[in-house]
Amino acid sequence: MPSDALGEVNRGLEVVEFACGIAQLQKGELSENVSTEVDSYSLRQPLGVVAGITPFNFPAMVPMWMYPIAIACGNTFILKPSERDPSAANFCAQLLRDAGLPPGVFNVVHGDKVAVDRLLEHPDVAAVSFVGSTPIARYIYETGTRHGKRVQALGGAKNHMIVLPDADMDLAADAAVGAGYGSAGERCMAISMLVAVGAAADKLIPKILERIGKMKTGPGSDPASEMGPLITRAHRDKVAGYVDAGVKDGAALLADGRGLKVAGHEDGFFLGPCLFDQVKPEMSIYQDEIFGPVLGITRVDTYDQAIALVNTNMYANGVALFTNDGGAARKFQHEVEVGMVGINVPIPVPMSYYSFGGWKASLFGDLHMYGTDGVRFYTRTKVVTSRWPDPRFRGVDLGFPQNR
Ligand code: NAD
Repeated sequence: MPSDALGEVNRGLEVVEFACGIAQLQKGELSENVSTEVDSYSLRQPLGVVAGITPFNFPAMVPMWMYPIAIACGNTFILKPSERDPSAANFCAQLLRDAGLPPGVFNVVHGDKVAVDRLLEHPDVAAVSFVGSTPIARYIYETGTRHGKRVQALGGAKNHMIVLPDADMDLAADAAVGAGYGSAGERCMAISMLVAVGAAADKLIPKILERIGKMKTGPGSDPASEMGPLITRAHRDKVAGYVDAGVKDGAALLADGRGLKVAGHEDGFFLGPCLFDQVKPEMSIYQDEIFGPVLGITRVDTYDQAIALVNTNMYANGVALFTNDGGAARKFQHEVEVGMVGINVPIPVPMSYYSFGGWKASLFGDLHMYGTDGVRFYTRTKVVTSRWPDPRFRGVDLGFPQNR
């Protein structure tokens, strides 16, 4: 559990490291002599004041997808963190101040919808970056753009992991358990659906159950805990409600974490790992983003059926394929309609020098976060056409400017 928090800080710091070399990406273009004695060149300039609105999960890392790039590009930044875990934002603000960042460059505004709406309406805010659930992402995009702002709004997810029958099943089982139950499933890149092709399910399920049996759920303050509680009691009860619904809808519950009690923390918001087999696409446990430690398995006969499931899903944040067949993997990476793709990698979060973002209902806007997309998002281009004419050839010319 402490390793989980350390992991998010490290992944955030990678964006800071990327931003340290950002001058390379801020360079403009120059064309000499586009006409006689005329040069043309482009500048990338900051937008001004930009805002970031972030979710409760990864309260250090997700803001770091935004502000290192925004500030390195010359903007000032207002962070509106989740009201459910606001203190990481204050701590980061303190660190930035201690490091010598001038006052007013990084700012924190706390609050909920009221604070968000003021930022979306405020004429001085030029751009808004958002990460959170899909309904709010859509609202942020529509409201922000209506007020003339540039907006990138990353939404929720339902990430599939397809396992072909030739896959290394131990590797796939390790990956499924880590990606399904890490952070108690409260990751936008968590795997929530396994799509097992042909004979894969019967080989995979005993291996997953064996690993679940060894998992330790407990308080995050205990270094031995692998999975902690959910964010609030209400969220814990909502996730448990999905497990109830899955049973009622006829899926086979192979591991049931609903009865888990953690000694000394009987009132904690814990839910043990849950595993469903025989999940059908029409069930709510398939349709909805649960955002908890609930992993479902859907059985299909062919690769084509598996990829059709992924490509017809409304979400398209991350996806993974497990196989030993390079040709199948190559076909998959070309055909799959998802923003971030893993081949034998369950959580394919791009490095800081690529960009992070999904497709379809997992992203509203055009540009992904950090990397080169981040630089494009936080800057605007100006093109200068410049002439230093020879005094000998001056004079009025009413003709249309053209190359001579
Ligand atoms: P959320 O959408 O409830 O909240 C996100 C932010 O929006 C918070 O700052 C919150 O204060 C604000 N907000 C909430 N309701 C609002 C409203 N009605 N009007 C205006 N602002 C509002 O999300 P959450 O529960 O904090 O986080 C979990 C969600 O975030 C999941 O859906 C998860 O998939 C998603 N997420 C996505 C990514 C990604 O990269 N795509 C990353 C992390 C989390």
